Amino acid sequence: MTQWKPTVCMRCAVGCGQLQRGVDEGFGVDEVQGNHRHPGTAGLACERGIRETKNPDGEWLTEPLIRRGDRLQPTTWDTALGTVAAEFLQATAEGTDNVAVLGSGQQTNEAAYALGKLARGGLGTRHFDANTTLCMASAVTAYYRAFGSDAPPCTYDDIPAAETHVVWGANPAAAHPVLYRWLRNSAGEDGCRLVVVDPVESETAADADRHVGLEPGTDLVLAQAVLARLVETDRIDREFVDSYTDGFEALTDSLPDVEAAAATAGVSVETVDELAAAFEDPTLLYWGMGVNQSTQGTGAAGMLINLCLATGNMGPGSGPFSLTGQANSMGTRVCSSKGTWPGHRDFADPAHREAVADAWDVPVERLPDDPGPGPVGIVDKINRGHVDACWTVATNPAAGMPDTTNVRRALDDVFLVVQDAFRSETVEHADVVLPAATWGETTGTVTNMERRVAKLTAVSDVPDGVRQDLDIIADLGNRIRPELFGPTPPNPRDVFDEIRDLTAGTPADCSGITYDRLAEDLAVRWPAPDADSEGGYRYHDDGSWSFPTDDGTATFSTATYEGLPEPTDSAYPLLLTTGRRPGAYNTGVRNGDTTAEVPKARIHPETAGQYVELLDRGRTVVASRRASVTVDLVPDDGIPPGALWIDIHHPSVNELTLPAIDPESNEPNYKQCAVRLESPDTSSPVTRSGVVTTGRLGND
Ligand code: SF4
Repeated sequence: MTQWKPTVCMRCAVGCGQLQRGVDEGFGVDEVQGNHRHPGTAGLACERGIRETKNPDGEWLTEPLIRRGDRLQPTTWDTALGTVAAEFLQATAEGTDNVAVLGSGQQTNEAAYALGKLARGGLGTRHFDANTTLCMASAVTAYYRAFGSDAPPCTYDDIPAAETHVVWGANPAAAHPVLYRWLRNSAGEDGCRLVVVDPVESETAADADRHVGLEPGTDLVLAQAVLARLVETDRIDREFVDSYTDGFEALTDSLPDVEAAAATAGVSVETVDELAAAFEDPTLLYWGMGVNQSTQGTGAAGMLINLCLATGNMGPGSGPFSLTGQANSMGTRVCSSKGTWPGHRDFADPAHREAVADAWDVPVERLPDDPGPGPVGIVDKINRGHVDACWTVATNPAAGMPDTTNVRRALDDVFLVVQDAFRSETVEHADVVLPAATWGETTGTVTNMERRVAKLTAVSDVPDGVRQDLDIIADLGNRIRPELFGPTPPNPRDVFDEIRDLTAGTPADCSGITYDRLAEDLAVRWPAPDADSEGGYRYHDDGSWSFPTDDGTATFSTATYEGLPEPTDSAYPLLLTTGRRPGAYNTGVRNGDTTAEVPKARIHPETAGQYVELLDRGRTVVASRRASVTVDLVPDDGIPPGALWIDIHHPSVNELTLPAIDPESNEPNYKQCAVRLESPDTSSPVTRSGVVTTGRLGND
């Protein structure tokens, strides 16, 4: 019988420690359970994480494929990688930005680092990004503005210490089950409570002591109203503000009138007062994609951070805590060279560029001088003819990006390389497919949302036709820039040591975390500058605060609410919003959920009643300015009147969504767009853009 091995769940960014055992014969994970020794999660695990670790139902990719005419046909690894290398070299000969690379928060730190090293240091392209930009780039940008550094200051240790838990634009009951259990336990104690701010009555909102149902997309202006009310009623922590922050006067000067702002957000002044009162307790403020995925996501996330700073809700049991989605989104941000160089080194800083170029032994001139336009901008570059080749790794842009009709057109226009463990919508557009190992089969490290680096351990081999992410990247890298990675397959431990060296002395210092230490301690939080230290609450030491900004203070940000990028009008009178469905996995490539032939659109019964003539046995068509999708309408009084809700996991939903982005973070405005209902074509569940609705559920 195979041995139990300590590892970590890669299903979401809670990062639960698990014990796993491989099957006795063949390939795959046989048994999974929580690991009581794990310092972050102490044996807890959710049914979803165990099920999707053990029994992925997606269609496995088992051998390299190459396009011959209309068909993807089996080929050898040498032919596949040789073809890709030749295409990339030809493309880069015309300009280094001519190759685009899209990575993922589902890679290990080692594979994400290697992908960034090849993209930035080997190819030299600025067109490199990862789907973490699609879910929390706005929070990241807001953190940098406020604290001069990425990532939440707080940790899981703060959850039981909080008295009020404010969940704003997030649904952890569906997205982060184990974290939600801690949150509920704490909120259920005497004198504690859960307040949820969300236009929709989500699973989390249904549990709340108070649910504030604001107008969709008005998070920024509601947060401003709460701040203005706190200022009016003198509930500001003046000592903290005066001692440790900058910009408070500019913030207060910029705040709107409380009554007008409340009206814009669709709530009463009394509700604003209730929210203001919530910040008098030790309060943890969690937020997610409901805030971030907006053309003003950075402004809204910054205003939530302002709320914590202004009320002194910083320190144990309180603070701003953005909820990370993908299992290794945090690690990607630390080590992949996506938005910063490894260790959160500033992209434009000459000294950091030199350090990275030296470490990689590449000319500094090859490193791009800005991190690029983000995934939506990259698709735009493809459509404008500025990119000839694209490589996607563990991501599914054909279903996960907004306005997917346009994305699919772009993918068809380039030489497309798809590296993944499972067949996805993006694979259908590929010229070369590189089958990669997934978790359970991979050794490396990952970093959860509270900055804890943990060891991921392979408990199963992979079939002959499948290779490790890191191995594929290094082999391809050496064909493009010989010796970039040394002999293949690379040892993940050696790659992690490279990461450690590059993060030494930076705000995200991981130099004190080693494979040997992880074998003993299982998981360690950064910053960890030496073998004995571990990060706790950040920026706080012995009762004093110091932030990694020029003058050591945290900075208040200002913003002006500008309204929705695509408001409803007489032609498109309904607002589409999206959210998570419990048990569904991103764009569905792993769980292969085929239970819904047609997506379900939830709608308030009163609104549905206005459109009965457009229904045929509950079925109708939702049309946006970009596409039309056949849906089954489900009356639900948890949806605000005038709105429609479709889960983010269905591959059709992003045909409808809007590719407008936050200019500060490059994050798309997935959460609101204008739609209308049309008479259904009941002959087939085919979307108007010509893509058959397969029913496989699925966002990265
Ligand atoms: S909460 Fe997330 S990380 Fe933990 S077991 Fe569930 S899916 Fe896995």
